[in-house]
Amino acid sequence: MIQVNDRFRQLPESYLFSEVARRVAAYKKNNAGVEIIRMDIGDVTQPLFDSVVEAMHAAVDDLACPASFHGYGPEQGYSFLRDAISRHDYHDRGLGIDPADIFVSDGAKSDLGNLGDIYSRDCKVAVMNPSYPVYVDDSVIDGRAGEIVDGIWNGLVYLDCDPDNNFMPSLPKEKVDVIFLCFPNNPTGEAITRNELAKWVSYAQEKGSLIIYDSAYEAFVREPDKVRSIYEIEGADEVAIEVRSFSKTAGFTGIRCGYTVVPRKLKGRYADGTEVSLNMLWNRRQCTKFNGASYVAQRGAAAIYTPEGLADVRKVTDYYIGNAAIIKDAFSRIGFNAYGGDNSPYVWVSAGVGKDSWQIFEAVLHACGFSTTPGSGFGTKGEGYIRLTGFNSRENTEIAMSRLIDSGIGL
Ligand code: PLP
Repeated sequence: MIQVNDRFRQLPESYLFSEVARRVAAYKKNNAGVEIIRMDIGDVTQPLFDSVVEAMHAAVDDLACPASFHGYGPEQGYSFLRDAISRHDYHDRGLGIDPADIFVSDGAKSDLGNLGDIYSRDCKVAVMNPSYPVYVDDSVIDGRAGEIVDGIWNGLVYLDCDPDNNFMPSLPKEKVDVIFLCFPNNPTGEAITRNELAKWVSYAQEKGSLIIYDSAYEAFVREPDKVRSIYEIEGADEVAIEVRSFSKTAGFTGIRCGYTVVPRKLKGRYADGTEVSLNMLWNRRQCTKFNGASYVAQRGAAAIYTPEGLADVRKVTDYYIGNAAIIKDAFSRIGFNAYGGDNSPYVWVSAGVGKDSWQIFEAVLHACGFSTTPGSGFGTKGEGYIRLTGFNSRENTEIAMSRLIDSGIGL
């Protein structure tokens, strides 16, 4: 038998969602007749836009004819999509990101992990606490996280986010090499201002660090002082990679398409000090290990940038933000602390002192018949919180929140 990567053994069981499902099933068994509403749902519920569906149907028709058939595409993505991304997401907003800086992918999750191929195993990695669990787990698999003690990996630097700092982490005291930042944030739902993000860009410039900026939820930003792209900060194209997704913006969770920006100005160095372009390294990595996102998916993604597609993005993100507003308002009305939601589909809720995440989860499930996600699943600083999402239908969101208000729940 071959020896396997021992670090998989160190990864904690990803039990969060299975445990949620188990507890919901147990509740259902004892409460037949109560329809449980999923307010923990991390997937979208609204269907693909008509413009996307039409473009994908046409793309399938292309594949059916010898004259318009497409086999392997460019590993970096088709130029029809890279051009549209560059124009609409960057140049139209005054940002100089060119098609050559853009790599189309099968979604943000794979890129976030795969990027670990291009920086050294010895890099010190910083992650927000709480955070989307993928940054930590990828660091464990790649051998950059060290050992886990009481839920904390001793090789990682944690950037704590709580109400005291408005969920905006402080700069690390020590030097870190790679910093994962995510705004609007999953799970806290908070977005970052330009002034706040500029501090991180300055830090990275000063220390020679790389920021991996996850902006999977940028289309939900509504407040004008909040950042949609890290390249809004001057000099960020020399220190930051931006990872984006069509998943939550346009219902692509099942289609799989996203993109990553690795600006050509971004440089690293080999062990002997020789300078190298990260864009060149990422291109090499993609050409070696990736054969491009599907033609049909990319044609669908390009339709998001038509006038109809852009209007539909606005409509669907408004819908989810509208749900988040209903959730935030309901929890605030019953005296809980509720954060996020204004520029995000996520609402982050605490009941105050003394109750852990699973206790709040259970209390809400039993009193109101809806499920939430325990915040402790996102890191030690998530303890005492639950995460709710605006991804359910408006009707279900309204039913769940009126149950909350009627329940008289107090913790
Ligand atoms: N980044 C964040 C912060 C997310 O919450 C998610 C999905 O939930 C992803 C990335 C993954 O996106 P994709 O569906 O493009 O892989």
